[in-house]
Amino acid sequence: MNKRILIAGGSIAGLTLAHWLARYGFRPTVVERAPRLRVGGNGVDLRDHAVDVAERMGIMPQVRAAAADVQGMNFVDADNRTIARLDIQEPGAVEIMRGDLVGLLYGATQSGVDYLFGDAIRHLEQDDDGVTVAFEHAATARFDLVVGADGMHSTVRRLAFGPHSRYVRHRGHYFAFADTDAALGQDRWMTMYNVPGKMAGIYRSGNHSQAKAYFLFRSEVLSYDHRDVEQHKRLVRDVFAGENSWRVKDLLAAALADPDFYFDALSQVQMDSWSTGRVALVGDAAWCASPASGAGAELAIVGAYRLAGELTAAGGDHRLAFPRYRDSHRELVAKKQQIGVNLRLMAPKTAGGKRIRDTFARLPIMRIMRALQRLAPGRPVPALPEYPSPANCPK
Ligand SMILES: Cc1cc2nc3c(=O)[nH]c(=O)nc-3n(C[C@H](O)[C@H](O)[C@H](O)COP(=O)(O)OP(=O)(O)OC[C@H]3O[C@@H](n4cnc5c(N)ncnc54)[C@H](O)[C@@H]3O)c2cc1C
Repeated sequence: MNKRILIAGGSIAGLTLAHWLARYGFRPTVVERAPRLRVGGNGVDLRDHAVDVAERMGIMPQVRAAAADVQGMNFVDADNRTIARLDIQEPGAVEIMRGDLVGLLYGATQSGVDYLFGDAIRHLEQDDDGVTVAFEHAATARFDLVVGADGMHSTVRRLAFGPHSRYVRHRGHYFAFADTDAALGQDRWMTMYNVPGKMAGIYRSGNHSQAKAYFLFRSEVLSYDHRDVEQHKRLVRDVFAGENSWRVKDLLAAALADPDFYFDALSQVQMDSWSTGRVALVGDAAWCASPASGAGAELAIVGAYRLAGELTAAGGDHRLAFPRYRDSHRELVAKKQQIGVNLRLMAPKTAGGKRIRDTFARLPIMRIMRALQRLAPGRPVPALPEYPSPANCPK
């Protein structure tokens, strides 16, 4: 049986996978490039099957206790007057700060998992019996399987499947998140200010004293080093430097002082297959839907649960498990990758588009959508499978 499994990436997908693999009796090792857990980021959503997975992991009470409890989006004008509000609370769903979720997943992954922080895979070579992995620092080692949970810029994907350009699709925007002064935003709301093609905003969770700034702008593909934070800051500063309206200047000044400033292209990953031989991908590495989907954490948690479950159901045989994992998860991924409406909502391209957005946001749109769902509920979502656990599965 394939027992020794290397997971690249210690974030939402990698930690969830490590938990379930360890629970099913596999021996996962997590290699994370950062020297410690990366706890930056805004609120992320757990809904539907992701809530079921978190329940089964036993972390749902803590997730609920740490819930960000954000009411919705508050669109403001240059004088900070509300133009429109959109209530985004979904029944049964929980929004939690990404860092809090990563901490809870890590806490649930302490037994039966080896960690290698501050390292990364440099090279991998697979044969019929396993995968030989060369690390940047640790000694070369053999594993039965390797899973890339290393995000949109996945090294595992590049090494095993080919260049990023084959799979990563630019969706015309860039975004940044960073800490900012909480006094600039309204408690439990995402306050958003738009000029055509750009958005600056503040996210104030109900459970945290600090606030997160976020920036979004339309742009063709830019050339930069995705690991150079100082370069990212210069890019965002240049785009927003001329914007003196609303609180953009203050927001930007606070964000640029944050060493954990997080910037990326709003891109999606599209692949026909998430495995090749003994190597598989999970989370953003396989199907990044982008933060505009509001579903990155949900997809990562459900996908990781299914991957571990299919492996245990197949007695560790990756040739059976990997295709079943993809078939069971691809429909949800395809659905969540539809982000056109969300982008038009967050960063209308023109002044006319912004007026339409504001009119739209003044309608009780979420209530209307829920009512429509009740009238035409569509295809029922199949229940999340309970995978068989081996007799020696630790409880
Ligand atoms: C710091 C940070 C902040 C984020 N903030 C938000 C947010 O506010 N809103 C939002 O919607 N999404 C955010 N995301 C993305 C979000 O976490 C993912 O969309 C989603 O949860 C899927 O998670 P993932 O585990 O697949 O990927 P990610 O969360 O991107 O995690 C990938 C992990 O792999 C590690 N890694 C990268 N390369 C290597 C390598 N070669 N070897 C080993 N490890 C590697 C990274 O350090 C990271 O820990 C953020 C991601 C990060 C890393």
